[in-house]
Amino acid sequence: MARVAVVSGGTRGIGAAISKALKGAGYAVAANYAGNDAAAAAFKEETGIPVYKWDVSNYKQCAEGLKQVESDLGPVEILVNNAGITRDTPFHKMTPEQWFEVINTNLNSLFNMTRPVIEGMRERGFGRIVSISSINGQKGQFGQANYSASKAGDIGFTKALALESAGKGITVNVVCPGYIATEMVRAVPKDVLDKKILPLIPTGRLGEPEEIARCVAFLVSDEAGFITGSTLSANGGQYMA
Ligand code: NDP
Repeated sequence: MARVAVVSGGTRGIGAAISKALKGAGYAVAANYAGNDAAAAAFKEETGIPVYKWDVSNYKQCAEGLKQVESDLGPVEILVNNAGITRDTPFHKMTPEQWFEVINTNLNSLFNMTRPVIEGMRERGFGRIVSISSINGQKGQFGQANYSASKAGDIGFTKALALESAGKGITVNVVCPGYIATEMVRAVPKDVLDKKILPLIPTGRLGEPEEIARCVAFLVSDEAGFITGSTLSANGGQYMA
């Protein structure tokens, strides 16, 4: 039986690349999304991967959604916490809504998604949890006090849970991407990209979603059982933590 993998925000961008890579590696993948039904339908049509709509910032929806996945596909053995948002603005102008939306979606989601599956993983003696943080959670970024706080929190969560889970065959790791060529970054004007962003990246190019997906596919593999609590930077040399 193929291991079951859930990818939050798994229908677009980096998450879609992760879902496809895990399917390619032989896992039974379930891709979660928030509200873009058209993108989710197109993704399902293209890949044949089942899609599940719920809001990762809502604990009850996560518990119910994960229960549905388990009844459709079997126990969740691999969890990829990828869903994330930005609401950028300098902190002195930031609203409570901008703060809490980002913390709830990028950080509280790790509790909401992981808590319902961790007991089953402990009982079965196997689990793989990978969360997608960001270079900006490692180094901070102007206009991103909310985002950087949430992404730094993802790293702390990973280290603590890794310690608690190591004796139960469960690994917990975090990947910190740099600038990745998703729709969001591709929409940046070419001269801004060429003059302001690319000079910061020693490799001289953006990363591809598939390069992050390959990091995740490695970390969730049975062969990566000795790697836990680690932070894997994939940023073209832009920041060396
Ligand atoms: P996208 O905006 O391209 O895709 C986000 C995905 O997450 C979508 O599937 C979206 O669903 C889903 N999503 C958003 N909010 C929720 C929610 N509340 N509940 C469930 N699903 C949700 O993002 P990226 O691919 O660019 O980013 C993926 C992750 O990588 C994020 O955590 C991001 O912070 C991180 N990252 C990205 C970088 C980049 O350069 N792109 C750099 C560093 C980190 P829907 O389609 O329904 O909206």
